[in-house]
Amino acid sequence: MARILLISDVHGNIEALEASLAAAPSHDHIWNLGDIVGYGGAPNQALELCRSLGTVFVRGNHDKACAGLVSTDDFNPVAAVSAHWTRRELSAENLAWLTALPQGPASPAKRCQIVHGSPANEDEYILSLHDARHAPVGDIPVTFFGHTHVQGGFVDNNHHWSELYNEQPTTQEMQRWDLPLLAQARYLINPGSVGQPRDGDWRAAFALWDSAAQTVSYYRVPYDIARAQQRIRSAGMPEWLASRLGKGR
Ligand code: ZN
Repeated sequence: MARILLISDVHGNIEALEASLAAAPSHDHIWNLGDIVGYGGAPNQALELCRSLGTVFVRGNHDKACAGLVSTDDFNPVAAVSAHWTRRELSAENLAWLTALPQGPASPAKRCQIVHGSPANEDEYILSLHDARHAPVGDIPVTFFGHTHVQGGFVDNNHHWSELYNEQPTTQEMQRWDLPLLAQARYLINPGSVGQPRDGDWRAAFALWDSAAQTVSYYRVPYDIARAQQRIRSAGMPEWLASRLGKGR
């Protein structure tokens, strides 16, 4: 029984990662759902901080591409440019660590699993109720996933699927919303993206799973966006990668 901090899709955004860790409640372990690098302008710093604090990792599609394990042919041009920049920027030691990241799913505790995309494929997106229904979770009650950069997830309560999302309006402050987990239901939980949210909320996203209390608490925290954008521009990466941070898209 433990309190697990869930972080995903940091994407080389050290400002968002530091703000998230500073705001995070007390926890016993950090599980990382992948995409530590790619897009952001501080890949070495983000990787080193994740590495020093993390307990369990699965790799993401960008980790794989930045490590050179797969080609960037399937990436959009902006993602490909940032993957190549990241690969050049990473120190030899960090590149070696990234290359050795394990492929998910991983089962760090009983009756739960962590994946980057879906249990079937780290590159697959679980975006809709349809995707959730078809995700091969078997009888595992709780699956933590990332990749979509959308905080929330899905629940299957006695064959009735519904979407989990924050019903409170977006503010400029830190925010938390709590989800009590029902014993009989199955969950797909997305903590959201620390470094590049795409759910219309620019604030860094993460979650805490309290396995004893059986609650998931979702967090949003403001961070120094201007500084993160400046790093992307200074690196000469496409302007869209900087401006999208401000839109949460
Ligand atoms: Zn990602």
